[in-house]
Amino acid sequence: MKLEEHTAFSAAISGGLYSVTRSWELAFACLMSGIFIDLDHIIDYLIEYGWPFNVKKFFRVCYEGRLQKAILILHGWEWVCFLFIFAWLTGWDPWITGVLIGFSHHIVLDSFSNGVHQWSYFLLWRWKNNFVHKASFPGFAPQQKSER
Ligand SMILES: [Zn+2]
Repeated sequence: MKLEEHTAFSAAISGGLYSVTRSWELAFACLMSGIFIDLDHIIDYLIEYGWPFNVKKFFRVCYEGRLQKAILILHGWEWVCFLFIFAWLTGWDPWITGVLIGFSHHIVLDSFSNGVHQWSYFLLWRWKNNFVHKASFPGFAPQQKSER
């Protein structure tokens, strides 16, 4: 899913959370984590393409699934499980719960929009596949090119 779509969904979900809970911490943490979980794409891009960092090339490579390796360290249901336990242990701290909701909805949206395998967003599955993009994300549907 594209950055602008994640931003729109995160804003809508965070706005809904704020309207129900009146917790700006929960809403802000959800908004930020729902968008910026995608920063892990930069790490994968830099490992494969190195410097200098070219923003246009970065988005083209990511949207078209042209990376050989997909570590995507933050895109993992394992983090959601960890965050759920951590949120529960802290009495549903709004910051941690917000990050939990942000990570959760981001991964759900990626799973549905990218047309990938049911296990693709598990770090252990990608590790089993040696983080090879084609093996980890069979059926990946490249995003349509931006009209800009
Ligand atoms: Zn993502």
